[in-house]
Amino acid sequence: MKQNKEMGMEKSFTTRAVHAGRGDFIELGIHAPPLDFSTTYPTPDLDQAARSFDSLVSGDEPQGSFVYQRLFNPTTDRFERALAELEGAEDAAAFASGMAAFSAVLLAAKSRGSHIVAVRPIYGTADHLLTSGMLGVSVTWTTQDTIAEAIRPDTALVVIETPANPTLELVDIAAVVRQAGNVPVMVDSTFATPVLQQPLALGASLVLHSATKFLGGHGDVLAGVVAGPHALVRDIKHVRAATGGLLHPLASFLLHRGLPTLPLRVERMQASAIALAARLAADRRVTNVLFPGLPGHDPRGLLGRQMRGPGSVLSFELSSDSPTLMRDFLRSLEIITPAVSLGSTDTLIQPPAALTHRVVEQEARESAGISRGLLRLSVGLEDVEDLWGDLDRALAEVASRLEYRQRAEVSAG
Ligand SMILES: *Cc1c(COP(=O)(O)O)cnc(C)c1O
Repeated sequence: MKQNKEMGMEKSFTTRAVHAGRGDFIELGIHAPPLDFSTTYPTPDLDQAARSFDSLVSGDEPQGSFVYQRLFNPTTDRFERALAELEGAEDAAAFASGMAAFSAVLLAAKSRGSHIVAVRPIYGTADHLLTSGMLGVSVTWTTQDTIAEAIRPDTALVVIETPANPTLELVDIAAVVRQAGNVPVMVDSTFATPVLQQPLALGASLVLHSATKFLGGHGDVLAGVVAGPHALVRDIKHVRAATGGLLHPLASFLLHRGLPTLPLRVERMQASAIALAARLAADRRVTNVLFPGLPGHDPRGLLGRQMRGPGSVLSFELSSDSPTLMRDFLRSLEIITPAVSLGSTDTLIQPPAALTHRVVEQEARESAGISRGLLRLSVGLEDVEDLWGDLDRALAEVASRLEYRQRAEVSAG
């Protein structure tokens, strides 16, 4: 915590996003992060190299030589320090993907037990990884109000995702932490980014991001990062050194390059998403608009308390279940790209049941509200009127075949 003060926690987030991980630039006489591609490092002093090796394989700091890229890379370390600062964490570990980061978190948790408690819905592949048991962990799926009942003596971790992918349901982080007692809570905060939400300040032990999404922000970096206290991140780095999966230095450089514009991107995308959600919710050609910023969509009052704003991802259904009609709608879009992923500069749309969440058991998918007709929209940086024009035109293309079902959500208030 003291370290965070020294790094300037009192400055605004926007300022810290610009300067994080760059505090030594003047001293070094540089203005952009150095990029080091070395896979191996000279070890002229064997004793010192051996000490450094021992330290790095345990997940600790280098003691002189970096020895080997899988153990340590200074470009990646610099990005990790920047991200840790923005999450108010002591340390962070970056991985080749969000799923590599989650896998390392689960493997590191096994020193405490092999039982995980998790709340659905979460990212489809994260659901699959837990449900399949392929990493030797078992999972109890529960709700955010029944965490305490699901905890067992061998529970190693509680896993939540908020906002949840793809239903945008908000999970009360502080309430989950209270129920979890001594069991660490990991929050997948990918949809929120540190701009909108800082789970560690609410008592979570670990915060995870698919950095592929908003942190990368330009659709050209696959990465994951997890931040938390030294002791937990050390165990995660220990796993990373043994299993591989360290983020490539070029990817780390690109992520670090994107941090200064993260607040701008998130705020602009969010403003557009708020406008589009309101128009979609008022449009009889669509139904079931899911967005925490809509009236009645934040029953726990977490906006403003836990999350600074509703973010820029929303989901909705067309007023018809027909898969061919959905295909025609997606094909009619001209600006919005039908594609998985989110948080990119361009607006992306995809049907989770058919793509990102197809690895989730059908029953689990349906009870979590991921219907066959649900479309997830990640609002990008295009002009909001152009985006609405695109949606409006594609809706008009299929409008004659829509069924205009009863709008349950509206009539329920
Ligand atoms: C994409 C995503 C992941 C997985 O990250 P990858 O970088 O694709 O491995 C995990 N959680 C959430 C919420 C995601 O959107």
